[in-house]
Amino acid sequence: HLERVGFIGLGNMGSRMANNLIKTGYNVTVHDINLSVIKMFSDKGISVKGSPREVAEISDVVITMLPSPSHVLNVYTGPNGLLNGENPVKPWLFIDSSTIDPQTTRKISLAVSNCALIEKRDHCVTPVMLDAPVSGGVAAAEAGTLTFMVGGADEAYKAAKHLFSSMGKNAIYCGGAGTGSAAKICNNLAMAASMLGVSEAFVLGQSLGISATTLTKIFNSSTARCWSSDTYNPVPGVMDGVPSSRNYDGGFASALMAKDLNLALTSAKEIGLNSPLTSQATDV
Ligand code: NAD
Repeated sequence: HLERVGFIGLGNMGSRMANNLIKTGYNVTVHDINLSVIKMFSDKGISVKGSPREVAEISDVVITMLPSPSHVLNVYTGPNGLLNGENPVKPWLFIDSSTIDPQTTRKISLAVSNCALIEKRDHCVTPVMLDAPVSGGVAAAEAGTLTFMVGGADEAYKAAKHLFSSMGKNAIYCGGAGTGSAAKICNNLAMAASMLGVSEAFVLGQSLGISATTLTKIFNSSTARCWSSDTYNPVPGVMDGVPSSRNYDGGFASALMAKDLNLALTSAKEIGLNSPLTSQATDV
């Protein structure tokens, strides 16, 4: 029953994730509003649809990989959205891998379970939603080594394990709806703060006469070691194959990082938590 997978949002991450599902042998149908990316898939003989609703109509599982909360809300509940068909929703599982706030995730999860009431009268299975944002970036999406942080019903998580293992190497269950999203924005908050710390330290170090390559060696065998120093070094020429060494082209866009920090800031404000580093990192 996991065979027909709809995939919506074929950007830097989604196109690679969908390709890995296709390689694994899933029967994949895709949709995106960007027609050039859609053409890439149809040219390979992959089934493409013009709206989320049409994808839902022929899928058992639908995965979304979209930029921000408004896009996800629109794809689920907007006109021709996943949940807007005439008939009860077809898919039994919805997985959103976009990085969005836990509040929006819970809203959509509720909308999915409201569809379940209609479904039950028609003796269909109960549809469920998992929030399953990812860590690892474009290279991990390509290699199928992403880490998924999964919130939602435990049974749905277990049933979706094979999908996760087709696109990633880890899938960590976090708890109820929204906890995957919460894990992701916390991860990215910590990553933003450490990336800014590493960058500032490199500017200071180079200004004081230490080369970035030497400072990197020291960081990576000392207590400053982190992802930004050993995997995604911010100084051009220190590491091969990272955005800084190709004129900051590709990779995880600054606009997406700013979006994630704003999600963390909004969530912290909503619960009245003081988070000075989040505010500072968002400003930078
Ligand atoms: P992207 O902008 O490259 O891709 C988003 C895709 O969604 C685009 O192809 C766009 O056309 C499509 N889209 C937008 N609105 C749509 C709609 N209404 N209907 C159908 N398609 C629509 O973004 P990305 O880098 O692939 O990131 C996707 C999500 O994953 C974001 O939430 C991001 O924060 C998160 N993420 C990104 C990375 C990374 O390294 N790029 C890593 C981890 C998580």
